Amino acid sequence: MLPEASSLWLLRLLRDIQLAQFYRPILEELNVTRPEHFDFVRPEDLDGIGMGRPAQRRLAEALKKHRSGLKSKNWVYKILGGFAPEQKETTPPSDSHLSLPEREGGLKCLIPDGAVRRGELLGSGCFGVVHRGLWTLPSGQSVPVAVKSLRVGPEGPVGTELGDFLREVSIMMNLEHPHVLRLHGLVLGQPLQMVMELAPLGSLHARLTAPAPTPPLPVALLCLFLRQLAGAMAYLGTRGLVHRDLATRNLLLASPRTIKVADFGLVRPLRGARGRYVMGGPRPIPYAWCAPESLREGAFSSASDVWMFGVTLWEMFSGGEEPWAGVPPYLILQRLEQDRARLPRPPLCSRALYALALRCWAPHPADRPSFSYLEGLLQEAWPPEGRCVRDVTEAGALRMQTGDPVTIIEGSPDSATWKGQNGRTFKVGSFPASAVTLADAGVSPATRPVHRVSPAQGERHQGSVDGDGGKAKMRDVPSARAQRRNVPLQRMKALLSPASPPGSGLPGPRENPPTVIPWECLELAKPPSPPETSCPTPSCRGGLRRWSWACTESRTRSARQH
Ligand code: AMP
Repeated sequence: MLPEASSLWLLRLLRDIQLAQFYRPILEELNVTRPEHFDFVRPEDLDGIGMGRPAQRRLAEALKKHRSGLKSKNWVYKILGGFAPEQKETTPPSDSHLSLPEREGGLKCLIPDGAVRRGELLGSGCFGVVHRGLWTLPSGQSVPVAVKSLRVGPEGPVGTELGDFLREVSIMMNLEHPHVLRLHGLVLGQPLQMVMELAPLGSLHARLTAPAPTPPLPVALLCLFLRQLAGAMAYLGTRGLVHRDLATRNLLLASPRTIKVADFGLVRPLRGARGRYVMGGPRPIPYAWCAPESLREGAFSSASDVWMFGVTLWEMFSGGEEPWAGVPPYLILQRLEQDRARLPRPPLCSRALYALALRCWAPHPADRPSFSYLEGLLQEAWPPEGRCVRDVTEAGALRMQTGDPVTIIEGSPDSATWKGQNGRTFKVGSFPASAVTLADAGVSPATRPVHRVSPAQGERHQGSVDGDGGKAKMRDVPSARAQRRNVPLQRMKALLSPASPPGSGLPGPRENPPTVIPWECLELAKPPSPPETSCPTPSCRGGLRRWSWACTESRTRSARQH
């Protein structure tokens, strides 16, 4: 049998030290396909395949040389010529005819070292730090940018970090979408630097968790962000890419009403008829955001990105809370599959939006909506806007003044009390329906009637859903009449009907699930004590990421046989 291209390096290395007879046992019994897999191989494992200690020392020496050889390779060659095979994760051989998306005109721009001045530190990620910067164009014009520099250890960049950095460059340089962070170019200096569009307002997660007096984000704006995100993700899907790390920490605010998808370090091309990417070795993944098939088999697809979209929606409406906080990563899959648990509905999230999130969390990838379909579903679930027509001062009711804009979170034409968000105070609560008239200010481009679209049609919607140009007024969301036109009344009733809290005379959110419920409505009982796992990269430790190792080679192999 011929060796797989992805493990040719191993065969060559073993031949060089006259140990070629161990090629198959190392590959098949120890599941080693990449140099870094040897980090997990113990001397006893090598004893187990019959390799003596002197041979083991030869192997260790050769590996050291091999790795340092990788580090010292010409960076320019690597950038322009793609990656060495050992930088790629293994992919099923049958799918190998597909590769990274075709380049459209190559590198966006090679930027001279002296043309970029770095300023304040904006943040740090798994393989580099990000600074605010100023890029001086040949014309003399200065452009504010963000500069991501590859972290360099005492012996130069670390192999996998360099690979991930270059992979991110290679993917970003082919992307062009109003809600995808733009790569301007690359500085081939020491360290290597990515020059990117600046998102001056930082990450959405930081904004969601900003302490008072920063006001919470309005519900209608969160819906706008969701639509921008769905559009960007539909675009990535058309490029044959899976993001794999969709979360509010990776959505950046380019303006108060514009998000951009960022952090393409985990993006991979989808392969084969099933449009999947299967991890080729143990790498950390953000457990709490991952779909069951990703946790089980290391399998990622547009449908697993849709799952992550649902978790991102949940984060947005729960003020940036951590999903599955308190559940150890190794138990998350069990919760999802055996207990059929799902993240609970956050109080700010309408039933209609939560129903949409539950569709994203369908157990079988094929049952989840596509991103282009989600764009339509989002439009249907859009909360209606209204305006307060009298001061509301009743006990227990949401305080409002005449003229206050109100976003309706729960309410139906025939219920006396609605739940909503006061657009002036950003407070959420229940109020008498009679105190609010629904806005009916015509139909702006953002409020076009919804037509459910097939994925193929939907991918054409690549325009910006930027609220800045649209003057963030009530016209940005569908009018109540438009809503009623788009959603059959009975369905709207079912989705928006609230229940009354005891004693108040006012209806409130029905936060407790009914006694007998289908799995879709099961809410998670808060479990105890959180043993955290984090990204093994020092700068990523702790915090929200809750990375955990997943998907051993053997698991991946069995997944491939399915
Ligand atoms: P990353 O390495 O992509 O995860 O970025 C680390 C952090 O740097 C992010 O969480 C952001 O806070 C910040 N950051 C990254 N890219 C940008 C950008 N283009 N504009 C502003 N801040 C950024």
